[in-house]
Amino acid sequence: MSFVFQPPSAATVPVTDGRSFPVHRIYCVGRNYAEHAIEMGHTGREPPFFFMKPADAVLPVAEGDLGRMAYPPLTQNLHHEIELVVALGSGGRDVPAERAAELIWGYAIGLDMTRRDLQNEMKKQGRPWCIGKAFEHSAPIGAIHPKATTGELTRGAITLDVNGQRRQTGDLSDLIWSVNETIAALSRAWTLAPGDLIYTGTPAGVGAVMAGDTLVGAIEGLGELRLAIGAE
Ligand code: MN
Repeated sequence: MSFVFQPPSAATVPVTDGRSFPVHRIYCVGRNYAEHAIEMGHTGREPPFFFMKPADAVLPVAEGDLGRMAYPPLTQNLHHEIELVVALGSGGRDVPAERAAELIWGYAIGLDMTRRDLQNEMKKQGRPWCIGKAFEHSAPIGAIHPKATTGELTRGAITLDVNGQRRQTGDLSDLIWSVNETIAALSRAWTLAPGDLIYTGTPAGVGAVMAGDTLVGAIEGLGELRLAIGAE
């Protein structure tokens, strides 16, 4: 085939076994922990809703590394959202929740980095969130742990520290919509495919980070994701 220009290589995320996981799409779940929904001014009892980031928004951080995210343009209120990321190894449509776990290939720790000031402005105007959510490097992610080694993750602590101070804390069992229910709901709206990543929502305690901050996210069974904000 003759291309107009060389097609870009796929975005990838390292796997703990040394291989790479090619990213197809990034789905994100909004307000999926009750306390976070309440802190954002909602009831915590809404049906699940979704937004997306481009696949090349991933900022992969290998196990044991300190990743680095440049402070993005246009914002003065860059927020952290620590999230369990589910990596799909197979896809489908209209997947029942009882079979959804079969699609899961692995899990990772992710950060849904958000230009909150821009997102809030878009919300106020009834406009799309893309400028607040779907910018470059807005999806830092640690190594993917195969489900074959972790088992199905349905509980366990999820935390985020900034400069050694605990900011966010929750438990995967607090998800309003479980991973399986989320996969089922997504598959009614989109055709899920191998390589899809699902950022499953963040617990309470979101807040701003500044250049020079160091973030450490942790999920029981998945180790840590370490990220420095700002240029070296
Ligand atoms: Mn989020």
